Amino acid sequence: MGGLWVGVGWFGLARRRLADGAVVFAVRRDWPDWRTHEFVAPRLTQAEAERAAETERAYWRRGPSRPAVSVVRISVNDFRIHRDRRDCKAPDCAVASTRRAPRPS
Ligand SMILES: [Zn+2]
Repeated sequence: MGGLWVGVGWFGLARRRLADGAVVFAVRRDWPDWRTHEFVAPRLTQAEAERAAETERAYWRRGPSRPAVSVVRISVNDFRIHRDRRDCKAPDCAVASTRRAPRPS
């Protein structure tokens, strides 16, 4: 059974199930100490993901170690697979991109 529950609406409190082929915006945490990263808080829109990123930054501000938080576009399939990966250090995972590069899909 594929797909992913994605937070929608006010602070992502409602949930909607998306198919594997869909693309979501998620928060990427980069941990400088360990050089690992993870993806959390999948959202339908970039604006909602940015809001989730703000919440993340506020949360970690008080912590002893702070991840670099960014917003990435990632397919539901990739997000779901990545969730089971611990301490991922792969360089080819989704990163924040400000330019809108044309990509064949
Ligand atoms: Zn990764």
